[in-house]
Amino acid sequence: MHTPRGCQQLMVWLLICVAWLAPLAWSAEPAVDVTAMPAEPLSLTAFVALLEDPERSLTLADVQAPAQAVRFKTNLPASSALTLGFTRSAYWLRLTLRNPGTTPREHMLVVDNPRISQIQAYLPDALGTYQTITTGCDIPASRIYSNRNFVFPLTLPPASEQVLYLRMESSIGLLIPLQLWSAPAFHAHERDDYLVQAWYFGIASAMILFNLMLFFALRDRIYLFYVAFVTSTACTLAIKNGLAGELLWGGTVLDSNVAYYSGASLTVSALLLFMRRMLRIDQLMPRVDRLLLGLVAVFLLSPLAYAVALPLLARGAILLYLASVVVILVVVVSCAFKRQRSAYFFLAAFALLMLGGATTPLRAMGIVPTNAFTVDGIQLGSALEMLLLAFALADRFNVMRREKAKVQAQLLHAQQQLVDSLKSSERELEQRVAERTDELQLLNNKLAALSLTDSLTGIANRRHFDSVLRQEWQRAQRQNTPLALAMLDVDWFKRYNDHYGHPAGDLCLRQIAQTLAATVCRSSDLVARYGGEEFVFIAPMTDAAAALDIAQKVVDAVAALALPHASSALGRVTVSIGVVAMLPSPDSSPEVLLQHADAALYLAKTQGRNRAELATA
Ligand code: GH3
Ligand code: MG
Ligand code: MG
Repeated sequence: MHTPRGCQQLMVWLLICVAWLAPLAWSAEPAVDVTAMPAEPLSLTAFVALLEDPERSLTLADVQAPAQAVRFKTNLPASSALTLGFTRSAYWLRLTLRNPGTTPREHMLVVDNPRISQIQAYLPDALGTYQTITTGCDIPASRIYSNRNFVFPLTLPPASEQVLYLRMESSIGLLIPLQLWSAPAFHAHERDDYLVQAWYFGIASAMILFNLMLFFALRDRIYLFYVAFVTSTACTLAIKNGLAGELLWGGTVLDSNVAYYSGASLTVSALLLFMRRMLRIDQLMPRVDRLLLGLVAVFLLSPLAYAVALPLLARGAILLYLASVVVILVVVVSCAFKRQRSAYFFLAAFALLMLGGATTPLRAMGIVPTNAFTVDGIQLGSALEMLLLAFALADRFNVMRREKAKVQAQLLHAQQQLVDSLKSSERELEQRVAERTDELQLLNNKLAALSLTDSLTGIANRRHFDSVLRQEWQRAQRQNTPLALAMLDVDWFKRYNDHYGHPAGDLCLRQIAQTLAATVCRSSDLVARYGGEEFVFIAPMTDAAAALDIAQKVVDAVAALALPHASSALGRVTVSIGVVAMLPSPDSSPEVLLQHADAALYLAKTQGRNRAELATA
């Protein structure tokens, strides 16, 4: 019982001696005087000693042993982080903190990179015994201080000096920004830091919800790609920042580097799909489109490969992401050269993201200063990119609406033109129909006139005469006025034909008809060819004496023509006329009138021809 306890005490004393003596023995790296920190936070790069353990086999005792202790590299260049690149080695960091003051000091040792797979912190207690804390992003729920980064609270007793050891290894690149904060300054910084994070994820959530609603409203898949892009960006950044492990998933395996790389793959896939649709790559550059789809397929399958062998693939994956960035830039720039509107927005958005992303390495290299904008540069760039892409979506919607309106206007115009041309051809048709109708009417009139006209002499024919006789008969009957009718026959006309020929006979008949029409010329009278060489005339409201008078004038007028007729006793063409006039009575008829006229004509013939005779009835 006594002996082990004595041993233990001896060990403790030895360790305390080693702890005190170690800085003297290997006093290459400067100790940090926590009472005189020049800046908050103090970057510890220049204060640490570094030992590479390629076998990952050394223990704390090993590195404390003089053989290994002297191998620690010191005088590392002052910068914001130790950049060790892609390495499978474990690295040991040794750091000496001194509190020469008279009061205990509370400090925070911060590893400002939540993506380190494994960290072992060996922190001495008041007795100098090392307490081991094992944490890292690949070890779920292992943080001793709840923060998105790895934070180790330290208490430095007055007038003390401590040597701390940190062992780190990573499945991806190893970047170690090691800082020392006084507790109050760190708490203030924590509040600001979480405010920035809340601001970023608030914007992302709003964009996700809003564009999801737009997708449901507009049913355009591009909104879904946008939502997928923003969601995977936000998740990947949440993993990158250590927030996913801390807040969302409670430090499950999803906080691991496999999840981080998978998130990056999904982000690039969603961005490629979004870009394809936004810039209409399938139509503009079909071959490039196939390349993009191939990349999308590779990125979508990559999480399976990461789950199996991330440490082997990490370097290649980074190269593939860089290649994708180059592809995206080339595609977007060539679309911009083709004067595609969306490409300008896309280029600006992408440039902002790249600029944001570039701040971390630029800050690490000391090219850009560390301030509120550059610390969270990638998030600032990402937020601006989200907003610009959302603006690009709105612009695309606007352009599509304008194009639709233009097409509609063109359609409407074409429709109007069609209606106009239809109307004008309808008018033309109506006009033609009207013209045809007029022509037809004219022809009808002509036909009607022809059907009532005698073709040889041009005066009314027998049909016309019959109808007028019936009308005049009825009118005379209604008005109780006398109606006169005369029947004319050319004398010896057979002989005329025989002597002069039939054509001369026709000419003679025409001349007689003209003479008859010229002599019987009241508008109410009608002259007509009754048939052969016989003519008639009707004289309404005319009594027998007047009718006989007219008939005599006709006889005289024909004789006055003095048309030679060698076969006639009179030596010229003459006519005989039978005249009748009567008040038409209901028990009589037009036929009776005709019979009387015919009888009177016969009388004129028998009386010696070349005369007019009145019917005796
Ligand atoms: P009358 O004095 O007794 O009347 O003797 P006529 O010779 O005139 O006797 P009739 O009336 O019988 O003769 C009619 C003749 O008129 C017969 C025919 O040759 C002639 N004629 C009838 N129609 C036409 C015609 O359209 N053109 C010609 N050129 N002659 C006609
Ligand atoms: Mg006759
Ligand atoms: Mg005759």
